[in-house]
Amino acid sequence: GPRTVLVTGCSSGIGLRLAVQLAQDPGQRYQVVATMRDLQKREKLEQAAGGTLGRTLSIRRLDVCSDASVAECLGGLPDGRVDVLVNNAGVGHIGPIESISIAEMKRVFETNFFGAVRMVQAVLPDMKRRRNGHIVVMSSVMGLQGIVFNDVYAASKFAMEGFCESLAVQLLQFQVFVSLVEPGPVNTDFELKLMEDVSRSEFPGTDPATLRYFQEVYLPASREIFSTMGQSPEAVAKAVVQVIGAARPPFRTLTNPLYTPLTALKYADPSGELSVRTYHNLLFNYGAFFHLSMRALRCLTCQCFRRRVAPA
Ligand code: NAD
Repeated sequence: GPRTVLVTGCSSGIGLRLAVQLAQDPGQRYQVVATMRDLQKREKLEQAAGGTLGRTLSIRRLDVCSDASVAECLGGLPDGRVDVLVNNAGVGHIGPIESISIAEMKRVFETNFFGAVRMVQAVLPDMKRRRNGHIVVMSSVMGLQGIVFNDVYAASKFAMEGFCESLAVQLLQFQVFVSLVEPGPVNTDFELKLMEDVSRSEFPGTDPATLRYFQEVYLPASREIFSTMGQSPEAVAKAVVQVIGAARPPFRTLTNPLYTPLTALKYADPSGELSVRTYHNLLFNYGAFFHLSMRALRCLTCQCFRRRVAPA
């Protein structure tokens, strides 16, 4: 029969697209439990789901930050069975570290780290018993490589990476797979929400130089990166569908080839100097030429260039 796939954070973005693509699987391999914190936001998903609604896709309430909500959701599933868990729910966070309270940082970790861990704990005993299961985690390239002014967000995704690297080894013994998906920038509400947060904040406790770097250097560069390198949520969802459908699911999947060289810097130089200095140069020394380096990068990583340097 079809595998039950539970996806968190399906009211928008990648989660919504993933739920719909899985529900529309031509082989009808999946029964999708598309979950969201607030069911009042279900309309967009209902529309996108179309005829799959009530057939291969059902919508349920689930707040990854609440034990009670998770228990209630899983309790409502037949045998409480989840074959594939997709931890997609997450929140972004940017800003100078001086202006962020510890309480605010904890909120990011509550969702991005503890929320995902809560879900894993909830489905794991049954997966182990059945010697079958797959846990997919929406990480980020920022789970592999820190990015300036994303300190807390990157830390929350690094935390998830460490958690999964550790757990994957044990779970292999139970035929339960763990997969991390690392998208680069994706054009969803995610960036919009970040910009809204930023426009509301007054950045208390931040010195003028830092604030200027954040607002006048980082923010324009970030917008540039989203517009030149950003993927669609559909493309990321498609990559996740492949991960879920694989006979031997990969542990890591970087969805954006444009970003791979940036993450490779870190592994090319074990001292870490190369990546720290490259990022520093990109942001602070190239200034107005930032978009040019982005374009150069794009050129260096595109297929036609690679065919020229390394003909097959
Ligand atoms: P999004 O904001 O559209 O989606 C995130 C979803 O998570 C939202 O629907 C939100 O309501 C939900 N959510 C937040 N807190 C929740 C909670 N406590 N319980 C249940 N749901 C909750 O943005 P997105 O880009 O689709 O993000 C999906 C995932 O992809 C996130 O984990 C994000 O960190 C990751 N990601 C995004 C990008 C990007 O650039 N957009 C890049 C890399 C990774």
